[in-house]
Amino acid sequence: MSEPVKVAEHEVACPVCGQKALVEDYIHNIPYYGDILISVLTCNKCGFKKRDVGTLSIGDPRKIIYKVEKPGDERALLIRAGGSKVLIPEFNIEISPGPFSQGFITTIEGLIMDLIEKTSFLCETGEANESECGRVLELLNKAKDGLVEYTIIIEDYPGKSDIISNKTRYVKIEEEEGSSPGD
Ligand SMILES: [Zn+2]
Repeated sequence: MSEPVKVAEHEVACPVCGQKALVEDYIHNIPYYGDILISVLTCNKCGFKKRDVGTLSIGDPRKIIYKVEKPGDERALLIRAGGSKVLIPEFNIEISPGPFSQGFITTIEGLIMDLIEKTSFLCETGEANESECGRVLELLNKAKDGLVEYTIIIEDYPGKSDIISNKTRYVKIEEEEGSSPGD
């Protein structure tokens, strides 16, 4: 893979301290896919750093659905733009975007490893229910070893996430969804 090329920089108000922070934009080329944008915000006043990634296309909100069914499927590259939600329904896992949610590029395997680390941490600190912890960790470890099938769903509201594979499916998220009239 080529090195990311810096294409622009601009100043924004830091989301943490409100002082001037610098955002640097990089274009990164992924072979057989195309260019993606990486933005890095750095605040020299408070030290806050945030990274976001995304495809360059102007996308509509959509669901990205990818099934891990056989060895090799876990090597697909996942681009998660900040603001997207990641779900693994079979494991009852949901990664919601927080106000400072970072974008990242990783493989499905990398995502599972990261989830194992985070879940172990939550279990050790007692922040999660103990029996649920054990159940989720067991499923994640099986996923790591390729012993279970599962589905990765990205609810991509920015329209800038993707899973790079010819078996990825896309479903448009309708505008009405999530804002029912009368509430
Ligand atoms: Zn700051």
